[in-house]
Amino acid sequence: MIDFHCHLDLYPDPGEVIEESDTLGIYVLAVTTTPRAFPTLKKMLTGRKRLRAALGLHPELAAERAREVDLFPLLLPETDYVGEIGLDGSPAHRSTLSAQTAVFTSILGHCQSQGGRILSIHSRGAETEVLDCLQAAPGAGTPILHWFSGKERDLDRAIQAGCWFSVGPAMLRSKNGQKLAARMPPDRVLTETDGPFGISGGQPLKPWDVDVAERQLADLWGVDGAQVSTRLRSNLRRLLERGSR
Ligand code: MN
Repeated sequence: MIDFHCHLDLYPDPGEVIEESDTLGIYVLAVTTTPRAFPTLKKMLTGRKRLRAALGLHPELAAERAREVDLFPLLLPETDYVGEIGLDGSPAHRSTLSAQTAVFTSILGHCQSQGGRILSIHSRGAETEVLDCLQAAPGAGTPILHWFSGKERDLDRAIQAGCWFSVGPAMLRSKNGQKLAARMPPDRVLTETDGPFGISGGQPLKPWDVDVAERQLADLWGVDGAQVSTRLRSNLRRLLERGSR
């Protein structure tokens, strides 16, 4: 199983979720919401080879923590993964969009100058702007658009630009989410939970809940569960081999 976007450090008891994920052999990309959280998370994941720590600055925090961007050049050498980064143009955060854009652009620039990274990207309500920023930063890495919820036009542009996608149970519950996921190239899709923010039945999703997304993808793709697992594993292998190029 693969959870390519999970906030492992934000569960009430991260140690328990880490232990269980490791025992179950789940591949987890643990994203952070601030660069200051990265060193602690990385230490928590030491020796857990399928649990990887990503260096991030969440768009909802980017404006007030813009100065933390300076930590990126220092911490980037410690990881192949960057996330959660991106832009949020939903009504609650629209007012800081220009500050967010400055932060996002600057992070992409640091990634460019260090040879690119695998990028887990938030784009809610700002899909066009995210794609504009990525287009302006060639060589920043391989973008994986997490929980994409934009228009089909932007999705098509993202596909054209070579983006990957991570989709989870919460997204695939909605008709619109299913429609978008069905449009994504199956060889560029990974599963995620976005736990503990991703919720199902009132409970925060845990990495092993990606099995729900696997079943939803089996329906969308018209294949059985084993074929979904094989495809997702092969996608992950290809992504990691390819790295940030
Ligand atoms: Mn997230």
